[in-house]
Amino acid sequence: MTGYEIRGLSISNYRDQSVLLDDVFGADGVATGTMVAMNAEKIVIAETDIDLRDSIEKADYRYADGVSVVLAVRRRHGVRLARIAGADLWQSMMRRAAQQNTPVFLLGGRPPVSLEVERRLRVDWGVHVVGRRHGYFAESERGDIMREIRDSGAQIVAVALGSPKQEIFMQECHRRHPAALYIGVGGSFDVVSG
Ligand code: UDP
Repeated sequence: MTGYEIRGLSISNYRDQSVLLDDVFGADGVATGTMVAMNAEKIVIAETDIDLRDSIEKADYRYADGVSVVLAVRRRHGVRLARIAGADLWQSMMRRAAQQNTPVFLLGGRPPVSLEVERRLRVDWGVHVVGRRHGYFAESERGDIMREIRDSGAQIVAVALGSPKQEIFMQECHRRHPAALYIGVGGSFDVVSG
């Protein structure tokens, strides 16, 4: 996948979200790695936040989520990237997970939002949710949560902790438990539960 560089960070050019999903799931339907939605705010924060920068650089999939990223690549490289909205991408991924019966763990959001997202995914979408934690936990609980994710057997972990927390969490959890796909979903849980 060709990467286009903006402020030292490479962004991939996917024609649309289904091409990205095909790339992620591969021929065998098994996805691993970390996925980061790239927008202008994240790129600016990553100039000074070394942990965020490192998490973005190590991510397996970086796609253009923000219009300003699309415009910046056009100005700099003369290439028109497709904009892939993170919330849509996550919902498509959940549909695919439901079809394949892929085990999913949901991390993040306020407690009632987390509950409602799980209910909707299970009942309305038929997603096999194997674990859930809301996103307001103490630093000291991080290790336990990562173990809980591993022990749940989740193959897809959706992480809604806001940026840069979610990117850093995903990278660390992926390093400890590489046999899963981690997708940062920002405010998507609020959209689905609303
Ligand atoms: N969030 C969370 N824990 C936190 C901070 C945020 O679970 O410590 C959740 C928040 O409830 C929301 C999501 O992360 O559902 C995205 O938060 P925000 O909109 O602040 O982040 P952004 O999408 O702007 O990066």
